[in-house]
Order: sequence, then C-alpha cells, then structure tokens
Amino acid sequence: MQEYISQAISGAKITAKGYAVADKNAKFTPYKFTRHALGERDILMEILFAGICHSDIHNARSEWGEGIYPMVPGHEIAGRVIAVGSKVSKFKVGDYAGVGCMVNSCGECEACKASNEQFCQNTIYTYNCKDCFHGGEPTYGGYSDNLVVSEDFAVTVPQNAPLDKVAPLLCAGITTYSPLKFSKVSAGKKVGVAGFGGLGVMAVKYALKMGAEVFVFARNKNKEQDALKLGVKALYTTDKLSEVKERFDLIISTIPTAYEPMDYVRLLGYGGEFCVVGLPPAEVMPQIAINSLVFAGHRRVYGSIIGGMKETQEMLDFSLAHGIYPETEIITAGKIDEAYEKLTTGKAKFRYVIDIKKSKF
Ligand code: NDP
Ligand code: ZN
Repeated sequence: MQEYISQAISGAKITAKGYAVADKNAKFTPYKFTRHALGERDILMEILFAGICHSDIHNARSEWGEGIYPMVPGHEIAGRVIAVGSKVSKFKVGDYAGVGCMVNSCGECEACKASNEQFCQNTIYTYNCKDCFHGGEPTYGGYSDNLVVSEDFAVTVPQNAPLDKVAPLLCAGITTYSPLKFSKVSAGKKVGVAGFGGLGVMAVKYALKMGAEVFVFARNKNKEQDALKLGVKALYTTDKLSEVKERFDLIISTIPTAYEPMDYVRLLGYGGEFCVVGLPPAEVMPQIAINSLVFAGHRRVYGSIIGGMKETQEMLDFSLAHGIYPETEIITAGKIDEAYEKLTTGKAKFRYVIDIKKSKF
C-alpha cells in the first residue's frame, strides 16, 4: 500500500492489481493496470471487500451490449482510506468508505443537484465505462486492491461496521431500498419480491423492517425455509403464478433472466405498482405490450436504477442502525469464475463477497 500512497502524494497515476476478463468468453486472470492520479477532491482507498453482483456477470459476458475489455468488474466496494486529496473534507486517512455503482457525475444538472446522480447524463460507472472527466480512460471496478474516487461518490462507514457485510449494501442494498421508499412502503402494505438472490433477500429484509407483509416468488422451493425464517408469509413458485390469490401493493422484480412481466402486473391490487430492477440479457429482454397495460387498468409499472448518493448514505445508516445485512459467503478472487457459474446455474444462495486481503493478485 505504501507504493500506492507515494504515487498518490506525488501526483502520479496509481498502479493497481485486480482480476479481469479479456473478452466475454474469458475466465478471470490477474491483471495489472493504472488508475487516474489523485485529484484534490478524490480519495484513494485500499479495497478490503468486494461483492459479486449479477450485473457483473451481465457486463463481463457482454449480455447488455459490448463491454470494454480487459474488464475488472465490481461495484460493491468497502475499504479503508489511505490517501486524500488536498480539498477532501468528508474523509481522513484511516476512515472506512463504501463505493457502489458510480464514481462520478457532472454535479451540475438537475438530477445531480437533487442527488439523483444515477440519472445524470454523464454518470461515470465504477467499471466498464469511459470516464469523460479523466480523458475518456476506462474505469475498473472493485475486484482489485485499490480505488480512486471522488469523495462525493463514497459513503462514510463507521469503524465498527462489518465491512464484508457493508460491501453488498452499496448495490444490492440501495437498489432495493430506493424503490421501497419511492413506493412509500409502510406497515400493512403487501409486497412481493420476485427473484430471491442477492437483491431479493435485501428487498425482503427492508420491506419487513418497513412493516410490510412480504411474499417471495422463486423458480423452486430450494430457499423456502430461508424465506420463512426471515418472516416472509409465503414463497410461491413461478410456475403457479396464476393460482396466487394475494393482491399486492408493490411487486419488485429482481429477476435476471427471461420472464413474462404481465404475470406479475396481474397480481397487483388497484393502484398497485410493479417495479423492475432486474435487467435480463438484451437478447431475452422481457417486453410489455401496451394494450395489456391498458387492460391492466391503473396498475403502474416503473423501473429503478440503484439510488442517489444521499439516499445511499441514508440506506447504509438505516441498515447499520437496524442490523440489516446481506446473506454472504466469503471467497477469494481465484474463485470468481466458480461463483459466476453457481450464480447462473441456480447453485448460489445469496451474495458472494471477495476478501481482497486474502486474495492473491
Ligand atoms: P442473483 O443471481 O443474486 O439473484 C437472482 C435471483 O433470481 C436468483 O435467486 C435466481 O434464482 C432468481 N431467478 C432467476 N430467474 C428467475 C425467474 N425467471 N423467475 C424467478 N426468479 C428467478 O442476482 P442479483 O440479485 O445480484 O441481481 C438481480 C438482477 O438485478 C440482475 O439482472 C442485475 O443485473 C440487476 N441489478 C439491477 C440493478 C439496478 O440498479 N436496477 C442493480 C443491481 C442489479 P435461481 O436460484 O433459480 O437461479
Ligand atoms: Zn450491482
């Protein structure tokens, strides 16, 4: 780390070690690269834990469009600040910090001013993105040993927080917390969560804490006991949706594969909402015909992408205050391919988190 700190202090580009894929069919291999020099409002973090989100798989395999390779994925990042730029006010060396899907935005548009940085036209994603604020260089994510990021895009994490559990909150947490707040979920509301993986389990935990009655939709009953233990009323399998009698105020889809959205819209009560966060591969992207929406009558469908920085800090504070954490399994970076395999063949439970310190680069 001393080498990185010296580079930061001298204003040089910062070298980093990570795991990358060379193309959409490749396996992960160790990869050395550089990050932009520490700007006056930037922090340099030593990454300690990085979650594996299903979006990483979609990106690494170019399932949403051609990716930028070599690609170092990872946007659920928790670590320690090891250097700060001269005008940084939120962090000092030694603090813990968390970074999610964004590392910068224009800071001037209406969306940014409202702390909806995720809706800025120039959002810089943590990886697989050309950074227009740094000469168009590609960004590299959290499957690596350090990160340089604007302090505005890092959340503060208290010293006593469990960092391995904090990392997945930076994407899985905020992506589910934000729509639950947007839809004003409160005591007595009926909430359905479709897809019970890394995001799904967080949606369940937050909705329960907000007082909702919560139901899960899954492809099979493998995780029924996990759901019931959390306080879920029932787990329905997706082959029997037409038999479900409940009518929901909100259903959140975290499904990453092909499915029929109207099967869920039909389960909404009057004025109910179907929120889409799961984003399947482009070639099997689910479609909704507008005539079916007309006849669905006053049921709303909306999409949601992560959350703004202010709300991300709020989500983290809420999670820590209420002890709401992801279900995690810790791995080393050498096991990323195996984790991807399990996440795409129904063998994973919830979230894999890479212990960066224990990984060899
Ligand atoms: P996971 O792989 O951890 O979980 C997905 C879950 O969905 C698994 O439990 C899987 O079950 C289940 N599933 C798969 N297909 C179906 C189906 N047809 N019907 C019901 N359940 C199904 O993924 P994540 O939770 O990390 O991510 C989920 C999706 O959300 C991804 O598409 C990801 O890209 C997207 N995402 C979107 C964000 C946003 O801002 N909008 C942010 C983060 C992620 P099984 O065990 O059967 O495979
Ligand atoms: Zn994610």
